[in-house]
Amino acid sequence: MSLGRAALHLVLAAVLTVLTQLGGLAWLLSRLFRRKALAFAVLYAGLWLAALMIAPIFGRVPIACHGEGPLGMRSWVFCLANRNYVAPGLKAAAEDMAAAMAQTYPGTVTLALDGNFPFLNGFPLLPHLSHKDGRKLDLALYYADQGRYLPGRTRSLLGYFAFEPGPSVCPPRFPTLRWDLDWLQPLWPDYAPEPARMRLALRLLSRDPRIGKIFLEPHLAAKFGSGASKIRFQGCAAARHDDHIHIQL
Ligand SMILES: [Zn+2]
Repeated sequence: MSLGRAALHLVLAAVLTVLTQLGGLAWLLSRLFRRKALAFAVLYAGLWLAALMIAPIFGRVPIACHGEGPLGMRSWVFCLANRNYVAPGLKAAAEDMAAAMAQTYPGTVTLALDGNFPFLNGFPLLPHLSHKDGRKLDLALYYADQGRYLPGRTRSLLGYFAFEPGPSVCPPRFPTLRWDLDWLQPLWPDYAPEPARMRLALRLLSRDPRIGKIFLEPHLAAKFGSGASKIRFQGCAAARHDDHIHIQL
């Protein structure tokens, strides 16, 4: 293998590691086989399954990818990429909140977004700098179309980057993680956060002694956060939090 090709494989492995934690390892190992694409698929599937079984021993459990329960991942993409792992206490808190939501508003589905990778404290799930210890989880906003709640749906496919319009408290600066992604916004359907569910979710989370903090953009906190004492502003250095709710132990 030429030096150039080796470098290319290392870059690809690094990208896969950043995106999925285990993909880079599968990529490098697959280079040892003759049928490389097949080897990669089999190796990645093996590591993915092994993570399901081994991560709980190290204190991280996966949130259900599918299923009929009131809590589920927004997309199989998060599961495929090993991004749905959290500490057991955080999973229990999210499940309890989702169950209480569905009890008050039958049919309500609480959707989880990025959690953490299955292994290694200190290994961040980019671009979320803090999702590195199993104690952080993002939840999708609850959406309605013309006032009618949309179970299991979000404005964007993955639940991120559909920013709610509102005043910003941060001065523009560069470089920044506080992306506006203006060019993307016209692509999203015109759904709005469903106020009753938003308010109840934030109150339930605030009331849960296991939850330490909730991050939400101030303009959404002003709208939906009355009685939710644990809502904080994530700061101007972090990404906008008016497309999702961040919770942590
Ligand atoms: Zn987060």
